[in-house]
Amino acid sequence: MEIVFATHNPNKLKELQAILPAHIKLVSLQDIGCHEDIAETAPTIQGNALQKARYIKQHYGKDCFADDTGLEVEALGGAPGVYSARYAGEAKNDADNISRLLRELEDQSNRRAQFRTVIALVQGDREHLFTGICVGEITRSPSGTEGFGYDPVFLPQGQDKTFAQMSLAAKSAISHRGKAVQKLVKFLSK
Ligand code: IMP
Repeated sequence: MEIVFATHNPNKLKELQAILPAHIKLVSLQDIGCHEDIAETAPTIQGNALQKARYIKQHYGKDCFADDTGLEVEALGGAPGVYSARYAGEAKNDADNISRLLRELEDQSNRRAQFRTVIALVQGDREHLFTGICVGEITRSPSGTEGFGYDPVFLPQGQDKTFAQMSLAAKSAISHRGKAVQKLVKFLSK
């Protein structure tokens, strides 16, 4: 079985191929000759994931899945959510995003937050969604150097380390993306 993973990130592709059963072959956007940026203009995380997977199905005729992730902070009414990458501007700078988040939460005692990943799969004429959530809280200052995005200020529930203080394997075992991927793998392995 061949399936396109709609990401331009080679690390994401490699990571996933490693945990998929051998009969499922992941195909990259490069493999199908897709070099354009796929629009992510939907107002929800789920909408963005579907938009990307549907685009590949429509333009390249291939079964495909795509993911989208956002950080939802309770005291900010779910922001930055679908705008997580661009929270501090179009430059999509991790350090600037973290600075803005800590500033917005400066006087807040409620630090509860969660990451949400949605994977949208378009297979034949059917669409499937797989969601992974990781709950935790936003720390008062950054710790750790691993990972990316908001990892240095996200403390998963029941842990004493931020995501940025964990190895990738330890993070993936409990993370939003890890949980969504496990659901996808289970579905594809059936
Ligand atoms: P994407 O949909 O995977 O590109 O994620 C959108 C944005 O959410 C990223 O640019 C990061 O700012 C943030 N983000 C996504 N996943 C993670 C994560 O695992 N840790 C920290 N931040 C993340």
